[in-house]
This record gives sequence, structure tokens and C-alpha cells, in this order.
Amino acid sequence: MDIFSGAGYGIARIRAPESDNNYNYIVWCTETSECAVIDPFDPVPILNFVRQGNLRIKYIINTHCHPDHIKGNDPILKVTMSEILVHPLGRDMVSPRSRALNGGDTIEVGRLKLNAIHTPGHCPEHLILVMGENLFSGDTLYLAGTGNLKNRGDANELIKTIENTVRTLPDGLRVFPGHDYSESNLRFALDLEPGNKEASKRLKQIEKLRMKGKEPAPSTIGEEKKYNPFLRYDSPGIMKELRKRNPDLGDEKPSYFIELRKLRDGWK
Ligand SMILES: [Zn+2]
Repeated sequence: MDIFSGAGYGIARIRAPESDNNYNYIVWCTETSECAVIDPFDPVPILNFVRQGNLRIKYIINTHCHPDHIKGNDPILKVTMSEILVHPLGRDMVSPRSRALNGGDTIEVGRLKLNAIHTPGHCPEHLILVMGENLFSGDTLYLAGTGNLKNRGDANELIKTIENTVRTLPDGLRVFPGHDYSESNLRFALDLEPGNKEASKRLKQIEKLRMKGKEPAPSTIGEEKKYNPFLRYDSPGIMKELRKRNPDLGDEKPSYFIELRKLRDGWK
């Protein structure tokens, strides 16, 4: 587990045991001890942390309703007074002890404010949350990657989300994603852009940390723009590389994104 502290808040990042590299987050207000839990997988480490810190869970926020992001909801509801916040399109996939959270809504946790942004693509109900200089990006954005489209995903929606939302976020925002696939994402990025120095620098840094048993430091939106192939899918270098692998690609930009996604899905 890693703790990130800032003015009036704390963030605990927990790698959920026996998960698909899921990250769970607890965000708390240091003045009121109220907290929110984001995408709980295993309730045990979350509840232990909350009890040890004398925190009070106000909300469970689900960025989206894939099973590995809502698995810990019910066990936490059972032992706390909390309720779930989820996009209306995901409401019927979680407990009725929930409330609709729309893009544009602001959530209050103690003195903290979290702003929800609707980012369909990985699935229709996906939301990301901005709290000050921090972004909880769920499966919309990973370090050097994005979520796949295998479970209710839509490529054209994800392209719109990337162009109209993700790429317009402030460069300084720190990214807290729903999963950690950092090394394989960066190796894939380097396979497409072997000369990308930012990608190789980041990969080396993460490999070093991992040898010491440490997790990667969060990236920023500015860094993602430099090495995340899904934010760079329409850059001349990546388009050229994709055309090399599939000469049938024409002028339609979305087809390049789809090709990139296909390559990543089949990449090991
Ligand atoms: Zn997902």
C-alpha cells in the first residue's frame, strides 16, 4: 500500500490481493475523517485501513460496473452506513443502496470535492473523478494504456472520450488508474515507437522500483501524452507504424485506433 498526502486529504492506494492487478483507493478528508472508497475489490484491506485510521466511509464510488470494480461493494455496505455512487447506466448492476452520479456532478467527502466526468468507451457507464490535482481514471486511462473494449466497450465512444476529455485534461493531473499494467503497456508502446525516450526512461524507472518490491509512481496527464500510444494513436509516427503492419489502413483516423486496440489485445 502507498499513501499520498496533500492539502487536507490523503489517498491510500491498495493493490488488491489475488486480483488482475487492481488498484483500490481510499480518499479521505484529514479534517473530518470522512472517506470514499473507489472500486473496491477485496474489502478486507480496505476495512482494516479504515478502522485503523478511524475513518468513516461515506461513499463507495464505482468508476464502472465490471465485476472486478464492484466486487467489494456489498461486504462494505453490510458493515458501514455508506452508499454507492455510480453512473445511472450502471445502477442496475449494483445494490439499490446507491445513488446516481452523472458527469458534471460534484461529490463532497468532508471538505473535499470530487468532480465526476462521464467517459464512455471502455463501457457505457464509465466515470472518472478529479479531486484537485488528482485523477481517478478507472479503466479509461492506465499508465501507458487504456481499458479494452471486450465487455460492453465501443471504440468510437472511447475515441471521443480520449479526444474530447482525456487529452484536454491539465498536464499536471496525477493519474490513479484502476489497474497496473505499466510494464507490458510500456513495452507495447516501445514496440510501436522504439525511439520514444520518455517511454524507455519510464520503463527503466518502474523496473528498478519493482526489483525493490515497490509500485510505480503515478504518472501525469502530461507524461501520458508523451508515451501512451492510445493518446498518440493519430500521431504521424504511430500511424506510419500501424500502416506498416496493416497496409489496408486508409485515411480514416478511427480505423487506426481500432487497429491499435487490436494489436494491444493480441500482444504479449
Ligand atoms: Zn473495466
